Order: sequence, then C-alpha cells, then structure tokens
Amino acid sequence: DKLYDLIIVGGGPIGIACALEAEKKALSYLILEKGTVVNSLYNYPTNMQFFSTSEKLELDEIPFISKEAKPSKQEALEYYRRIATSRRLNMKLFEKVEAVENACDVFQVTTTKSNHSARNIILATGFYDLPNLMNVPGEELHKVFHYYDDPHLYAFQKVAVVGASNSAVDAALEIYRKGGDVTMIVRGNEIGDRVKYWVKPDVENRIKEGSIKALFNAQIVKIEQDIIKIDQKGQEITLENDFVLALTGYRPNFKMLKSLGVKLEGKMKKPVYDSQTMETNVPGIYLAGVVCGGLETHKWFIENSRAHAALIAEHIANK
Ligand code: FAD
Repeated sequence: DKLYDLIIVGGGPIGIACALEAEKKALSYLILEKGTVVNSLYNYPTNMQFFSTSEKLELDEIPFISKEAKPSKQEALEYYRRIATSRRLNMKLFEKVEAVENACDVFQVTTTKSNHSARNIILATGFYDLPNLMNVPGEELHKVFHYYDDPHLYAFQKVAVVGASNSAVDAALEIYRKGGDVTMIVRGNEIGDRVKYWVKPDVENRIKEGSIKALFNAQIVKIEQDIIKIDQKGQEITLENDFVLALTGYRPNFKMLKSLGVKLEGKMKKPVYDSQTMETNVPGIYLAGVVCGGLETHKWFIENSRAHAALIAEHIANK
C-alpha cells in the first residue's frame, strides 16, 4: 500500500485548495471525501447566491467566471468540479473517514471502503454535516428540517423558520415570496447583525409590514403534527404549523477532533493549532478551512481560509 505524504479528509473547496498546494510542492496526497466533490456546496439551497464575489472564491488563481459579480451555487459547483477534473486531483469520493490512528509517525486511516496511510493528515471537514439541534420533543418528526433547499415545497403552508442569521433570513424571504405563510422564531431580540447588509432591510421591512411574522425572545418548546408550542418570555404560545425549518447553524465534528487527540479550548471549543503552520497540538495533524473555528463557524469561510492550504504545504515540504 502507498504511503502518502498527506491525506486530506474532506473534498470541499479548502480540501481541494490543499491538494493544489501539495502538487506544487511535489507532495503525494489523497483526498478522501464522504460524498460528492464539494459535497457541502452541493447541499446548499438551490437558489442561493454566494455573498463573496467570484474572484474571492478562486483557488490557485484559476479564474472563476460568473455571470454576476456574486456567483450562484450552480456556478460554484461547475468551478470546483472543473478544477478537480482538469487537474486530475487524486480523490476518492463516497469514502468516509471513520478513524485515524497514529502508529510510529505513520497515520493509518480507516474508511468505509478501505485503509490508507500517510505521514500527515489535513482535516478539512467543514461543519455542514452536523446541525445544531433544538433538543425539543417532536424534532424527529418528518415535517422538521435542518437544511433548506427550495421554496416550492412550502407554498400555501404554515412554516416556522427558526433562527435569525443568513440561512434563516434567506429561507424566510424566499418562502414568503413563493406563497408560504412564514413565522420567524428568534431567540434574541432582533435579526442577526451578521445578516448580509443588502438583505437585512428587506427582512426587517417585511416583518414591520407583517408579511412575514416574527416572534422575538422566543423558542420552540414542543412540535406536534399540526401545531408548535413556543415560549416567549415565559408565555406559552400555540401556533398552527405544517413545517418547521430549524436553521440554527451547524457545528464541526468535535468527536472526530477529540478522537485524534486535538485539544478543544474554552466555551467555543476552539481547536488548538499554530496559526503560522495550521498544525494542531498533535504533530502531523493539520486543520484547514471552517473546521478551525470551533463553534464560531462564522469566523472562517472560503474567502479567508483558502490561504490555509499554502501554509500547510509549506510546513510539510520543509519537514
Ligand atoms: P466544506 O465545504 O464543508 O467541506 C468539508 C467536506 O468534508 C465536505 O465535502 C464533507 O462531505 C467532507 N467530510 C466531512 N467529514 C468527512 C469524513 N469523516 N470523511 C470524509 N469526508 C468528510 N463562504 C464564502 O467564502 N463566501 C460565500 O459567499 C459563502 N456563502 C455561503 C452560503 C451558505 C448558504 C453557506 C452554508 C456557507 C457559505 N459560505 C461562504 C461558507 C463556505 O461555504 C464554507 O466556509 C466552505 O464550504 C468551507 O469549505 P471547507 O472546505 O472548509 O468545508
């Protein structure tokens, strides 16, 4: 079996960036991805538009051409897939990493399909696989979703959108405009301050005029087939309901980080790594992309984390 210089766990934009940098340094590598190429992006809402302009999403200065300044999901899939095909990246898809063991400076990686070994591991596993749950009775019902795809499903339906950040706001606006009856349920007392500055007034004005309803300082406490129960400052409110879209964020796979020996610090469970090299407290294990932020998943995105790839390749090449 081949011993790679590095194995990259996750074939998202940042995993791909790491592969491109490894090639430049003539390091042998393998990407292991549990789904399709850029699997998280593939699962983003159908009509989403990136908040970044396309050049900020580019890898290795390969031009990203999009019709508008900010590309669509479809354009991003084309872009990253074309990089993977034209650069013939060494990648195994639909192969999930289940365990990584360190045996005498060689990492043994066990996947759902086989075993691989490498001198170094880059975790570029993102955060989009594990939604933050509300942990309320009824959350397991088929009418409750933690991912939003397309508005058509929700036309003529009573939809509770939980959350007040970008995902929740985008879904609420889109569903309202396709004929859904939307109530936003917001834990805080206002729409999130990180909501895109060109979208925030739109949602605030829809709430003001009553076309989208919103309950602030409120949380769902129970979900049933036809209703939801909400607690608003100690008052219980019951609403008729057909669907619950809980867009309350996602979190990195802390279990996997811990099992590899990566230390997590503080309330935000920030993984311990050297920001100059991206190497964690475990020698030979590196982090790249959104996984670096711990619970602060807004801190890192494609724009500002694509630079991790070159730092890591440089450090491994100089070992
Ligand atoms: P991901 O893209 O999440 O990739 C991680 C990959 O690892 C996934 O493909 C996953 O399947 C795989 N994986 C996970 N666990 C395993 C395992 N055990 N074995 C094998 N594979 C595994 N960022 C921007 O810069 N600009 C934007 O405009 C922008 N818009 C966004 C819009 C939305 C709706 C969302 C949700 C995010 C947006 N982001 C944006 C954030 C950006 O998409 C993420 O920061 C980006 O995907 C991070 O890339 P990544 O490679 O670190 O992680």
